[in-house]
Amino acid sequence: MLEIVQSLYYGLPAPVRNLAASLYGYRLKSERYSDGTEDLVAQALEREQWSAVRWQSWREERLAEMLHRASRKVPYYREQWRIRRLKGDRSPEDILENWPILEKAAVRENAESFLDEELNRHSLLEEFTSGSTGSPLRLWFTRQSQREWYALSEARWRNWYGVTQDHRWAILGGRMVAKFTQTKPPFWVWNAPMRQLYMSSYHLSPRFLPWYLDELRTRGIDYLYGYSSSLAALAHAAVERGVKHPMIVAISNAEPLYEHQRAVIRDAFVCPVRETYGLSEKLAAASECEHGSLHLWPEAGFLEVDENRNLIGTGLLNTAMPLIRYRTGDLARFHTSTTPCACGRNLPRIHSIEGRADDILITADGRQVGRLDPLFKGDLPIREAQIVQESLTSVTLRLVPGPGYLPMHGERLAGLIRERMGDLVVHIERVARLERGPNGKLRGVVNRLGKGTVSSADA
Ligand SMILES: [Zn+2]
Repeated sequence: MLEIVQSLYYGLPAPVRNLAASLYGYRLKSERYSDGTEDLVAQALEREQWSAVRWQSWREERLAEMLHRASRKVPYYREQWRIRRLKGDRSPEDILENWPILEKAAVRENAESFLDEELNRHSLLEEFTSGSTGSPLRLWFTRQSQREWYALSEARWRNWYGVTQDHRWAILGGRMVAKFTQTKPPFWVWNAPMRQLYMSSYHLSPRFLPWYLDELRTRGIDYLYGYSSSLAALAHAAVERGVKHPMIVAISNAEPLYEHQRAVIRDAFVCPVRETYGLSEKLAAASECEHGSLHLWPEAGFLEVDENRNLIGTGLLNTAMPLIRYRTGDLARFHTSTTPCACGRNLPRIHSIEGRADDILITADGRQVGRLDPLFKGDLPIREAQIVQESLTSVTLRLVPGPGYLPMHGERLAGLIRERMGDLVVHIERVARLERGPNGKLRGVVNRLGKGTVSSADA
């Protein structure tokens, strides 16, 4: 059904596509915001000054309610606890640590059994996430949780970054707003109620990028939001053209933001670049403050990081579909410093989101190599790079050369890979552009080693 709608949409002339996008935008806006939004935003900003003790009691109260209800009203968990009780397990369910880790596959296979059975399904909002492996997850949210989540976004990105809903913004995300085979603009669609220009992340080739930049100017776009790799591709094109496109802010999302990406985005758009993180399941989010700290949104969920740096979250907002000790598939490191951030906000900090758990390389002796940005940091004339691992003894380095690129630059990057992974064969493959995954994201690492080698909930 979705495919039919999508192909109908592609067949429409651009003004009608804009109308379709605007109608959709109107619906989204009414789901996300209400008369109460302003109050919710004010409360969120006020909570940023709360003491740690106040935060703790507030969050624990919500967590206790969530666990209590989930173990009784949510069939999946109730069954789990029933079996444990039959086996003589008496551990209390109101302690989070007593709950097992929940894998994404379990939610994908039994989505409906995670719903609170007392809530009317038709009153809930349904969303699909497109995982980077292409198998979507079905999620349901209460209308209230949706509004709380978007009020937090209003507070912790629009408000912090000095923009409002009146500003015009361009978003580069995962929606297929133009057909992949399309070779002429528009590669975007204008959503009038949200003042949002939705630009395709699938058409960011050097040939098409000048059209993107012209559109930003013609539309009078005030700020940018999107995948780090997409913003960086746009920025490279602007720098090569020698034209500045001043913006109020550029907000990266959904992918780790590497230093070299931050630098080129700042340069091209003459504005601060802020990293944000948010999970489609809406149980974890963070945004970077003006002092460079990535602050967590404590209202969204309880987070844990295991010994392998897997980020595990328990949602506090969405009572329709409680996700408890859910393995997010992302890797993260918490901040160890106890000194407060200079911005004065009393929100916990996260050191970094390190990307997806299955985006890791394995060395011949079994070591896992996760964080890759040091490889890409060098001032090499390489626009984008991706490492594909097919075996323990060889990887393919696919790269998009920038102006002034010479084979030695690729060799240098290959050398950096060998420095971290030992003596393995690095095949260098030059490409015009790197293909995006099914959700439009650029994966810095693609691990094609056999299943089981890599711990991943989303394989
Ligand atoms: Zn701060």
